[in-house]
Amino acid sequence: MLVVHKYGGTSVGDVERIENVTNRVAKAREEGNDVVVVVSAMSGETNKLIGFAEHFTKEPAKKEMDMLLSSGERVTAALLSISLQARGYDAVALTGRQAGIVTDDTHTYARIESIDPSAVKNAIGEGKIVIVAGFQGINKSGSVTTLGRGGSDLSAVALAAAIGADQCEIYSDVDGIYTTDPRIEPNARKLDTISYDEMLELSSLGAKVLQNRSVELAKKLNVKLYAKSSFSDDVGTLIAEESSMEAVLVSGIVLDKNQARVTLRGVADRPGIAADIFSKLAESNINVDMIIQNMGTDGSTNLGFTVPQSEHENAKKVMESFDHEFEGMDFDEHVCKVSVVGVGMKSHSGVAAAAFTAMAKNNINIQMISTSEIKVSMVIDEKYGELAIRTLHDVYELDK
Ligand code: ASP
Ligand code: MG
Repeated sequence: MLVVHKYGGTSVGDVERIENVTNRVAKAREEGNDVVVVVSAMSGETNKLIGFAEHFTKEPAKKEMDMLLSSGERVTAALLSISLQARGYDAVALTGRQAGIVTDDTHTYARIESIDPSAVKNAIGEGKIVIVAGFQGINKSGSVTTLGRGGSDLSAVALAAAIGADQCEIYSDVDGIYTTDPRIEPNARKLDTISYDEMLELSSLGAKVLQNRSVELAKKLNVKLYAKSSFSDDVGTLIAEESSMEAVLVSGIVLDKNQARVTLRGVADRPGIAADIFSKLAESNINVDMIIQNMGTDGSTNLGFTVPQSEHENAKKVMESFDHEFEGMDFDEHVCKVSVVGVGMKSHSGVAAAAFTAMAKNNINIQMISTSEIKVSMVIDEKYGELAIRTLHDVYELDK
């Protein structure tokens, strides 16, 4: 097999851990595989470098930031290669550029535009283990770019597709994707499989095992992904197309504490009002999540939405500039969003009703509801967030 392994910051956090990764890569090699390894910077390294830059200015030039931050991944790539060579393996470390990764010009948040896999393929052809510094590429004018936080996952997926790897294994310090956060629900269970779409919902909802963009790309390019731990021999969780797996009703429950609710009362019920409000929020770069508006009566309506807690004050200011358009507003930063995710909802009824009933039984008031094909989300009082997670986990029998 041709496999891509990707090791995150904690997996390469110090020389002993790089030694551990060396053992794992060597084992995959001994089992007869061709192995390409993508590495992150040592844990804490990227933040440390950002801290250095911010010592001088709060707004360092993005181009220089890319020059700076891309160094973290190079360090681990080189060290892993050195370590493999010391053990008698033929290995080579490549930067993003050397691995043929070309991006657009968006410094610190670049998109991969193309990959020329020839250098990596040639090295594999020569029998080498290829180590690639994650999180980076170059733009057309030859400057180093980085792919956004967590971007090494994206490097790994893109590279796996470009070289036609059989699978891409993403290693971190957790052994897969869980039905919910095990710190909240001790009976949370590791999933054997999950679909790309469910994984996308779970990761954008706050499960931080895989970077969102990398899952999107894996879906688009049909890359078979595994989430595994570099500290155990667990098989991990396979993330793939849903048709290839057994249908389940609900796969996971997610808690997002980073939510604040804004409700506008007595909003003028006229064409263009929503466009005005949300354009203003967008201009201020405020990311709106849930939006709820009901039928107007007597020329006015109520409009509610949620924003990240950090944007709460900003959203308030933007709305104040609008206060001639509504009668009153109400803010609540002490809310959270609880979501039930599962592809089974597409074909089964009653999933949402079961969630609402569970909230009712616990006397938890649901402030907002939104749904998609595979998700039901509820905004509730922050103090009931963990209770709601445990209750829902129970209702859908996710421990079984
Ligand atoms: N080192 C980068 C970060 O901390 C990229 C990565 O680890 O994936 O965000
Ligand atoms: Mg990561």
